[in-house]
Amino acid sequence: MAAQLIDGIALSKHMRADVAARAAALSARGHTPGLAVILVGVDPASQVYVRNKVKACKDSGLHSVFEQYDASLSEAELLARIDALNRDPAIHGILVQMPLPKHINPHRVIEAIATSKDVDGYSTLSAGELMTGLPGFRPCTPYGCMKLIESTGIALRGKHAVVIGRSNTVGKPMALLLLQANASVTICHSQTADIGHHTRQADVVVAAVGRRNTLTADMVKPGATVIDVGINRNDEGKLCGDVDFAAVSQIAGHITPVPGGVGPMTITMLLVNTIEAAERAASR
Ligand code: NAP
Repeated sequence: MAAQLIDGIALSKHMRADVAARAAALSARGHTPGLAVILVGVDPASQVYVRNKVKACKDSGLHSVFEQYDASLSEAELLARIDALNRDPAIHGILVQMPLPKHINPHRVIEAIATSKDVDGYSTLSAGELMTGLPGFRPCTPYGCMKLIESTGIALRGKHAVVIGRSNTVGKPMALLLLQANASVTICHSQTADIGHHTRQADVVVAAVGRRNTLTADMVKPGATVIDVGINRNDEGKLCGDVDFAAVSQIAGHITPVPGGVGPMTITMLLVNTIEAAERAASR
């Protein structure tokens, strides 16, 4: 393999040690950081995600409250629960696991979370803060991708970055974060005529699509940094990303693996956002 591996597990471990130290310092001052995680329904993938988030909190010395509700919970009941958590001084971050049952409007739920506790960074206010460069909570996955790129020591200023995918939770905030770091940014999506035309000129490619082999070796400039956000299964049922890892790693300069790249960083950045929320609350 020519490319250097960007190790999300090692970086996560390093960053979580810092989170744990900050959590201990806050707790010693009587401000134990707290995250509330709400799950509505029994979606098996969501249950795994939520369990991992709660465990990560515990491992880093954060207080976590896990609330699981039956899929029949009404939107009004969920909003009332969020309202109570907004006012709870022991809770600094609120996360509602998506997707929600069909009868609950996810936008209304996200907007109900106090901006000061929106540690997922999904609300329109948090998105506006990112858009305008104001301090605020950045969505965890793209925020983690930025930390992975930073860890290579490669400066983004003046570089060309291509993001494949334009979702509100990954692609769009990713593009804004890269722009804020002074990269020139191109966004590709399902309607882009020739994605390879763009990626072949890119110093950095972030693939956030959810379709394996979206980025193949012929689409990558030698030495480029490749960040693979995608989570897919290959024909053998093994976890894989959006990037043809075996071939692209022969050409790229730096590359994240799947698993072990972006995935661990997403939860780590949730912990970082929660600690920041708790530190802000403690300094008020
Ligand atoms: P999403 O909401 O489904 O968005 C996918 C994006 O990919 C859309 O913008 C779509 O374009 C674009 N797209 C679809 N087919 C394409 C194609 N053939 N060529 C180019 N672009 C195409 O997904 P998401 O939430 O952003 O997540 C993307 C992937 O990242 C998924 O595999 C997800 O599981 C993974 N993910 C991983 C983590 C992690 O922690 N590792 C976190 C979040 C997400 P249009 O807008 O034109 O439809």
